[in-house]
Amino acid sequence: MTNHILDTQIEYLKGIGPKRAEILKKELGIFYYRDLLHHFPFRYVDKTKFYDIKDISSSSAYIQVKGIISNIQLIGEKKGQRLTAKLTDSTGSIELIWFKGFKYLKDKYTSGKTYIVYGKPSAFVGKYNIVHPDIEDPEENKNNIPNQFEAVYNTTEKMKNIGLNSKAIHKSMKVLLNQCFDCINENLPLSILNKYKLLNRKNSYLQIHCPTSSTLLKQAERRLKFEELFFIQLQLIQSKLFNYKKLKGVKLEKVGTYFNNFYKNCLPFELTNAQKKVIKEIRKDTNTGHHMNRLVQGDVGSGKTLVGLMAMLIAIDNGYQVCMMAPTEILANQHYNSISKFIKDLNLEIKLLTGSTKTKERRSIHENLLSGELKILIGTHALIEDTVQFNNLGMVVIDEQHRFGVSQRAKLWKKNTIPPHVLVMTATPIPRTLAMTLYGDLDVSVIDELPPGRKPIKTFHGYESKRLRVFGFIKEQIKEGRQIYIVYPLIEESEKLDLKNIMEGYDAITRAFPSPEYRVSIVHGKMKPENKDYEMDQFAKGNTQIMIATTVIEVGVDVPNATTMVIENAERFGLSQLHQLRGRVGRGGNQSYCILMSNYKLSADSKKRIEIMVDTNDGFIVANEDLKLRGPGDIEGTRQSGVLNLKIADIIKDEILIKYAREIAQEILKDDPNLTKSENSNMKQFLEQINKNKTNWSRIS
Ligand code: ADP
Ligand code: MG
Repeated sequence: MTNHILDTQIEYLKGIGPKRAEILKKELGIFYYRDLLHHFPFRYVDKTKFYDIKDISSSSAYIQVKGIISNIQLIGEKKGQRLTAKLTDSTGSIELIWFKGFKYLKDKYTSGKTYIVYGKPSAFVGKYNIVHPDIEDPEENKNNIPNQFEAVYNTTEKMKNIGLNSKAIHKSMKVLLNQCFDCINENLPLSILNKYKLLNRKNSYLQIHCPTSSTLLKQAERRLKFEELFFIQLQLIQSKLFNYKKLKGVKLEKVGTYFNNFYKNCLPFELTNAQKKVIKEIRKDTNTGHHMNRLVQGDVGSGKTLVGLMAMLIAIDNGYQVCMMAPTEILANQHYNSISKFIKDLNLEIKLLTGSTKTKERRSIHENLLSGELKILIGTHALIEDTVQFNNLGMVVIDEQHRFGVSQRAKLWKKNTIPPHVLVMTATPIPRTLAMTLYGDLDVSVIDELPPGRKPIKTFHGYESKRLRVFGFIKEQIKEGRQIYIVYPLIEESEKLDLKNIMEGYDAITRAFPSPEYRVSIVHGKMKPENKDYEMDQFAKGNTQIMIATTVIEVGVDVPNATTMVIENAERFGLSQLHQLRGRVGRGGNQSYCILMSNYKLSADSKKRIEIMVDTNDGFIVANEDLKLRGPGDIEGTRQSGVLNLKIADIIKDEILIKYAREIAQEILKDDPNLTKSENSNMKQFLEQINKNKTNWSRIS
């Protein structure tokens, strides 16, 4: 097959050449014609509208002004040197400033002549100016009939240095479109274009780069966003169907004595309906001989560990080994303790493997795993090391999965000839749109119910002045037999200072809560694992009443008697982190509290985060707000996934389009899973072409 013209290297485009091509590759990753076509404008200038200089304010975004340029002069010396000019229209004047390119610019503009100037005004000592404006001579272009909108493209300093500013990009884009317009093939079936009133593909590219009206521009945007989202969904759903059909999984035929015995005799409480539902879903997945790849989403405290355990018991009933992997040692320890307790009457071999497991113990674990004697292994990353070999691993449960990299998870798959079933449990709820895109190829179960009797946690915000009252409150709680967490931020960049803060906090607390009446534990990341475990254990057993900690306790820690979570410098935590921390309380039947202590000075974002925490306990609302505040790129786990390198669509704003795209993709694949029907051939071709250019991210488990 001959290459498509859009696969031509960018240096061959008229006006580009090898030097500019080099910069385009380095700066924007534009290698081929195709890549340039997908370098979409980030905004448009309405060329029919001129701004009055008197209306310029600090909120003015990019503006277009028509006025007379005068007083062009070089001022300042050496590094402070700059070129300035005055721009005057009938309503006022504003300064234009350049910090380089003086020689060229000085003679470019004629004093007293009218120009059209674009740029973003900024304020300096009460006056407005425009730095490095774009300037056009209206006489030069008077024969061109201007489009109403001019596309503006992202550029970098290096690009501008060789003349590749936004205007030059636009010019190249026009050359490209002229040359390739007829070769831009439609990749969606006509029936879909008609049904959803989508602009055809050629015209969408033309309009997005050279819009002739705002209506057509909107249509082009909608079409290209839809296309982008649709092909992601098509790939995700296809790969899910493929896995389901083709990937063999170990068949867990029966539910046997371990599961039944546990259910009848060991469960200290009734399962919630949501837990039952998810266990049924897992059961249904695993007894078919297909491979299970399932994500369990459930808010903090919804009882995911138990669901994981019961899934593991089914695998054991069928003669398989199982393992559960946690992101931290504390958490692995805790799972080990609570699961050991749950199953103490079942007579099952269970062991813990972490970075601090002693060599002798480690060796014995390795042996017993190989012989098949050891049935349940709980641990951290240590589990995925190559030296850990199983006899017949049937199920892997991964807790708080967003902390494990994709490749680490893939390693677990390979620990058995037939890949073990994978159950991923996440406590950070993922907004629906993100889940649809990120985990579109996983089956998702949701635990949308908390165990009965839980009272909603009451959350308060307090400044330093409230400290004494907070201490008083803690004393009351302790008097009632409850326990308290006090959490300090600890980030690597300011580690020393943070450690000092927590140690000072510890001193202050031990003074305010003196022994022997009160006993205080402390846990932070710099302590030896065995000391951490000891302190954690003391707190879990109720031997200490106050736990001072850094975010090492953020995930999973479960001490139901703890009712109060005090978070120091709450303004420094992210929303999902705050929600996770709050989830450490409210786990028993007692009313629980979360107190967010903060500085007086709060940024707008910090204030908003604290407000959201005070307003809601619902993890899904928190997750959505978090996504809005931070953008998807910052949500843990999304960056390395590569699924979110969206060029034009927006995972937050285009929620409705994402739903559409998913539904339509599902409908099409249901009818024609391999896209072999003639009406679907252009989609199939397009997918093949995407896959030629891309690493296959759709198999992320
Ligand atoms: P998470 O979903 O945050 O991992 P856990 O699995 O740690 O939650 O469970 C939180 C607490 O709730 C634990 O103490 C657990 O034993 C308890 N729990 C789990 N399921 C139930 C239930 N159905 N009824 C009452 N308590 C439950
Ligand atoms: Mg948990």
